[in-house]
Amino acid sequence: MKEKVVIVTGAGSGIGKVVAKQFGVSGAKVVCTDIKGAEETATEINNEGGNAIGLYLDVSSLDDWKSVKDKAIQEFGEINALANIAGISEAVDIVDLEEDDFDKMININLKGTFFGMKVVLPEFLRTGAGKIVNIASLAAHVGLTGLPSYSASKGGVIAMSRQVAVEYAPKNIQVNVVSPGIIETPILANNPPEVTQAFTDATPAGRLGKPEEIANMVVYLASEEANFVTGQVIKVDGGWGSK
Ligand code: NAD
Repeated sequence: MKEKVVIVTGAGSGIGKVVAKQFGVSGAKVVCTDIKGAEETATEINNEGGNAIGLYLDVSSLDDWKSVKDKAIQEFGEINALANIAGISEAVDIVDLEEDDFDKMININLKGTFFGMKVVLPEFLRTGAGKIVNIASLAAHVGLTGLPSYSASKGGVIAMSRQVAVEYAPKNIQVNVVSPGIIETPILANNPPEVTQAFTDATPAGRLGKPEEIANMVVYLASEEANFVTGQVIKVDGGWGSK
């Protein structure tokens, strides 16, 4: 990723933070974005010898996206890759799910991914290349208890990514999805402990995944080593999705 400019959403915590740091180690110029913690992640990358900036981005705001795109180009000249990692999760039975909470889930997890692709694709067309890596979830592949809106949002991410991948493949733009299993990050705090334990027990590998194990796949898919890989949905889930 040497000298490549990559925007990472959700870079303030969990998987996104580790993804941003791994991009930093790989030599990329990293635009860390989040509603909180992006600048701290950028500072850590810079202190470790990398090159990063931190910017506020609420992924559900198109105005925020446009501003981040402009600032990234102002700072680093162009954009070569986008890693859409930001997301929220909520465990609730569909009968008890409030309309506002459903809308919030879709606005952040699905519309946020749509906005990111909408904003960077013209820049990729201008430079003649580009990579997008979107994050879905095991919940989009198998029925997990209590995650109706989350599962719907991630299923939408997969369907939209496939469509964009096929449409933009002739333009040398690759779009792929990583579907994590259950990964040790702060997002799990939103689940009751018994749910997290059940997830662990259900994972064939017998353990939760680590953010680094997702980041490895994201960085690979954003690199030129993956130039012929597009429209793929890659599960990194300790085997759960293959049961
Ligand atoms: P996390 O809570 O640690 O990180 C999510 C980040 O997204 C946070 O920094 C948060 O501030 C940011 N965020 C929330 N709303 C935002 C918004 N409107 N705009 C911009 N940023 C916003 O969670 P994580 O586990 O690191 O999750 C990262 C991604 O991985 C999410 O898309 C999540 O759905 C997905 N995922 C996680 C797991 C898991 O087990 N941890 C499993 C499958 C998929």
